[in-house]
Amino acid sequence: MPKPLLLMLDYDGTLTPIVPHFDQAQVSQDQIDVLRKLASLPAVQLAIVSGRSVPQLRFFLMDLAGESLYLVGLHGGEVYDFQSEQFLEEPDSSYKHSIEALKQYLEKAGIHQVKGVALEDKNYSLGVHYRQASPEDAEKALGCLREGMKTLGLSLSFILRPGKQLLEAVPKGFNKGVAVDHLLPLATKRFGQGPSLTYIGDDVTDFDAFRQVNAHGGQSIYVGQILPEDSPPVAQVLPNVQAVYDFLERNILSAV
Ligand SMILES: [Mg+2]
Repeated sequence: MPKPLLLMLDYDGTLTPIVPHFDQAQVSQDQIDVLRKLASLPAVQLAIVSGRSVPQLRFFLMDLAGESLYLVGLHGGEVYDFQSEQFLEEPDSSYKHSIEALKQYLEKAGIHQVKGVALEDKNYSLGVHYRQASPEDAEKALGCLREGMKTLGLSLSFILRPGKQLLEAVPKGFNKGVAVDHLLPLATKRFGQGPSLTYIGDDVTDFDAFRQVNAHGGQSIYVGQILPEDSPPVAQVLPNVQAVYDFLERNILSAV
């Protein structure tokens, strides 16, 4: 058997192109087939690591239910085994109450009436998307979010994490580096030895995972036209989502 591999893939912008509205981030049937093949490889442990919640990921990837695959949601805050359909890690329920209060605050402040702004409620975190808003409207919405955090005293337990035209309130300590920390022991247990690590992601939120993967001698791969200056070192840059699938087919599916 070749040296086992823990293959960690971000979702939005890596496995599916960034879309105008976050609800539309579907993967195609061909792409599902590639993921299914990867999940079935005996020397590969596949994991999808996202800022989305597990229920959202599960919805998009329903065709993969029962496959040997982990879904890691909320930047590492929750880990779900798609084979046994069980959560292995779940966030503290107290975060839910805070997020509910923040959502109510924002709605009362009229954030949903700001043009081009959309709230994404992930139960334990709350995202404000402004991809379709004017700069002025985006600033208005983000100001409202910052104000809500302050008024409700959430800054002790939550941070505001920027994403792609997104700012979200996330419990402190949830980051994709933690996702790697959760997945490595699971894969090591499965294979009876420490696997090689590959992580592919397109966003600043993936940099925490890159750092962790690099620390373990693994391979970090950035998806995008130009590697941002603040990125940790990467082994490779892939220009777009199609290049990710080409890489997976060529370097992993054909290699084993
Ligand atoms: Mg992404």
